[in-house]
Amino acid sequence: MATDLLTLSVTEASHLLTKKEISAVELAESYLAQIEAKNSDLKAYLEVFADVVDQAKVSDDKRSAGSHALWGIPLAVKDNILIEGRRASSASRILENYVAPYDATVITKLKTAGSVFLGRTNMDEFAMGGSTENSSFGPTKNPHDLSRVPGGSSGGSAAAVGGGLAPIALGSDTGGSIRQPASLCGAVGLKPTYGNVSRYGLMAMASSLDQIGPIARSVADARLLYETIAGRDPLDSTSVELVEPKATPEAFTIGVPYDTLTEGVDEEVLAIFNDTIAKLKGAGHLIREVSLPNLKYSLASYYVLMPAESSTNLGRFDGLRYGVAKSGANLLEDYLKTRGEGFGPEVRRRIILGTYVLSAGYYDAFYGKATAVRELVRQDYAQAFAKKNSGVDIILTPTAPTPAWLIGEKVNDPLQMYLEDIFTVPANLAGIPALSVPAGQTRAGLPVGVQLAGPHFAENNLFALGEIIEQL
Ligand code: GLN
Repeated sequence: MATDLLTLSVTEASHLLTKKEISAVELAESYLAQIEAKNSDLKAYLEVFADVVDQAKVSDDKRSAGSHALWGIPLAVKDNILIEGRRASSASRILENYVAPYDATVITKLKTAGSVFLGRTNMDEFAMGGSTENSSFGPTKNPHDLSRVPGGSSGGSAAAVGGGLAPIALGSDTGGSIRQPASLCGAVGLKPTYGNVSRYGLMAMASSLDQIGPIARSVADARLLYETIAGRDPLDSTSVELVEPKATPEAFTIGVPYDTLTEGVDEEVLAIFNDTIAKLKGAGHLIREVSLPNLKYSLASYYVLMPAESSTNLGRFDGLRYGVAKSGANLLEDYLKTRGEGFGPEVRRRIILGTYVLSAGYYDAFYGKATAVRELVRQDYAQAFAKKNSGVDIILTPTAPTPAWLIGEKVNDPLQMYLEDIFTVPANLAGIPALSVPAGQTRAGLPVGVQLAGPHFAENNLFALGEIIEQL
């Protein structure tokens, strides 16, 4: 029975819960048993909540005819999303014992929908990283090969879903942190259009790039979670009213920026990508080459803008207002000790970089230029999608240039690590939605995903083509 419950999709589980053929308690207990068996190896969760079964009991008791499809469905939450009364540390020492005083808007929505919260998942400290090795509490492992990274920064959420320790999870994505770990762990992950999901209660990394989104085992489950959390929120002034989805085309016109695939992409990743293209063509979809000439500057732009915004956002962790406080001989020493000991090396690196690029006199050279490049990237996509240019519906690339790499392999080479974000970062710069869907496995059995990027508010099309790719 227990294993059967673990293989159910959210929709199937929801159906059985409605018919009272299974209970939320049974469902929660099977996930807890799986967590008990595997989490000490995987380290997907930083904390499994002590009241999971109690939550499930309440959910069973309160189920009614009109209950939401997520009613009684267990969910894992990245450690940078606030749940009132529970710890939220962003996997940082500086917030190790911080207890959230309120719910993030996505959590309020999920509570209303009847979710059962399993626990909080590991991540790179303050979401800075692509392997979860920057967690202050030790790395998460890839469920397909424990010697490898799960990707990051939402590596805990992706490993939980990919390893069967949660049916669905929330992640956050500033430059790829939902899609890349989803790809490396064999899960589906969506970065929504900027503004479609409220950021209220998400610990800010780079506010103009951050979005919360779903990680799931299937496109349908990701869609369900996304639709539950999306929508304008008066508490987040950058959130927007949802746009009525347009009908999805029968045959998609799919753009491929072939010139971005010439260098640095792993052979097997490329083979799986090309195979997906061939199958899509075979299924009657149109494949067209697109040119996104400024894409090659995306990483450079991102790694100026992101640290600039992060250094500003992290200014609040000064030992006075939040979390850990260390005392020195004077106020300056208090700051130095608190921030020096509270933040890990990658976070400090980015704060220094961000503070530098924002220094007086350097604005034009760095921040101003990076902002201009960001606009060019946005225009590249707008051009490629423009209907009047008989534009494409979706742009397809690999999600990440490589499959999961060995733990420790890239920790001493931040630039190598940053290159992993090459395909994911542009969507954050442009604010467009992008979905990673599993497309195959390497000979060694490591999952490889492809990324679908669409125009603003075209999540609908991403889900539709995503489901087609799932079934190829
Ligand atoms: N890997 C990217 C970085 O380190 C993305 C992080 C993210 O999306 N939170 O910045």
